Amino acid sequence: MEQTYFCPAKINLFLEVVDQRPDGYHDIDSIMQAVTLCDTVTVGFTAGSGKITLTCDHPDLPCDERNIAYRAAQRYLAAAGLTTYDVTIHIEKKIPIAAGLAGGSTDCAGVLRALHTMLNALSEDELFDLAKGLGADVPFCYASGCARVGGIGELLRYCPSLTRDAIIVIAKGGEGVSTAEAYRQMDLPMDPPRERLMPHDMLRALRQNDGGEVAALLYNAFEPVILPQRPLAAHAKEAMIEAGAAGALMSGSGPSVFGIFYDWDDAERAYNRLLSEGYQTFIAHPVV
Ligand code: ATP
Repeated sequence: MEQTYFCPAKINLFLEVVDQRPDGYHDIDSIMQAVTLCDTVTVGFTAGSGKITLTCDHPDLPCDERNIAYRAAQRYLAAAGLTTYDVTIHIEKKIPIAAGLAGGSTDCAGVLRALHTMLNALSEDELFDLAKGLGADVPFCYASGCARVGGIGELLRYCPSLTRDAIIVIAKGGEGVSTAEAYRQMDLPMDPPRERLMPHDMLRALRQNDGGEVAALLYNAFEPVILPQRPLAAHAKEAMIEAGAAGALMSGSGPSVFGIFYDWDDAERAYNRLLSEGYQTFIAHPVV
């Protein structure tokens, strides 16, 4: 039996780093939006002895336990006590790696969803616990759509998505950013504490389907730390605004930058310019 899933990337419309916890993790307050830039994950199972085989069309990704999608299958089988199945996973990678777009987390969530649909061997709560343990962005990727995300990523409250008429141009230039390193550079715990921004205005704008206002309120606490070190990301943001984006922001800990457009000509202008300048460039829509 085999199932194929499109696994969407996420962007952060709002991202506040609340603080570092004693265990070293970071509490965030974020609004995450799934977008139609997707990896494709095919998962199959047959009778066997618990062997997991992962293949991927991207040469830079490991195909063993270092791949989070592999670990998802391992943990699902272990949590369900299933020892008489072999699992195959094939990933077609389109989401740039280490880019702030949750590419690994979404593959991981896709494997969980596929196994759960085919085997139905865990409760929804057990599945959610498994997702939490695999990575901070995995619960959101499993939920998809648009949500306010708190804690280290495990507290989810759905909110209305950006509407389908939003055109999202995504550009990644240069090397990836390690999320752990980005947090280190935030200089946490903050002393004196920085004033914490809240996403209430953005939540209201989403509820009112006011995409222009959402774009005007985009916020990412990582930007002042990462953008000065990443001229390609800073340039992509400028290029999006110059082309007519209603708003542009770095996603997660970067270096991907996205622009929200409501005019196709403007979006295409940004896309073509950044593509010609050597960026990995994509046009997407919100997953509603
Ligand atoms: P996030 O936004 O969740 O912090 P990211 O988009 O910045 O994540 P990923 O693309 O998930 O970053 O990659 C982070 C690291 O995870 C990379 O070093 C990569 O080698 C590793 N990794 C493991 N499995 C995968 C996978 N299936 N896809 C992408 N990266 C993976």
